[in-house]
Amino acid sequence: MDHASREAPASIRIGWSALMVAAVLAVATVAAIASRGLVGGFGLDAAGAVTVVAATLATGLALLPMAAIIELPRAMWGHWVPERRHRAGRCPACGYGGSGGRCPECGAAFERPPSYAADWATLRRVAWTVAPASLAAAALGLVIAVTDERAFAREVEAQRRRDPELRAWSRPRAWPAGFAELRWDAGRGFSGPPPFEAPKEALRPRA
Ligand SMILES: [Zn+2]
Repeated sequence: MDHASREAPASIRIGWSALMVAAVLAVATVAAIASRGLVGGFGLDAAGAVTVVAATLATGLALLPMAAIIELPRAMWGHWVPERRHRAGRCPACGYGGSGGRCPECGAAFERPPSYAADWATLRRVAWTVAPASLAAAALGLVIAVTDERAFAREVEAQRRRDPELRAWSRPRAWPAGFAELRWDAGRGFSGPPPFEAPKEALRPRA
């Protein structure tokens, strides 16, 4: 047998990491697109990009308390399984039954293994999963949002070809930012206003 390792098999560690990166990427991409809708904007600009990146990294921070899920193989193989074996009076490292100071099978000490606890090392390891995935998600979300805005611009051009008298056109942003609108009007051109914008025009007397 291998030397009674307290690490999960490499395939499980790598597979779980890939799954966690994919999960963070999915959640943070949805957050990035939604935050574009909340903040507003139209087309790619530096300020808009910075806002989306910041909002997405904040989402990533919110995932940090889920360290025990992100680190599930380490927590299981390194802590939970050895603890259970120890409670059952078996070797924490290999599960061999016996008593005394050391395991006759693998030589590990028969002592209570440390409990899983999040510390700075945990945070660092988890941040290495969450931060790159969040950054990638921010970029991906921004590309998806701007692609939707460009599609809207083409829709408006098509509408104007059909109806040269067209003065204004709008539709909701694509999911998950459908709570916000993309707009075009003949006076101000394209805009992606935030959903809770004050209705300035309604207060102005109409000429
Ligand atoms: Zn053992």
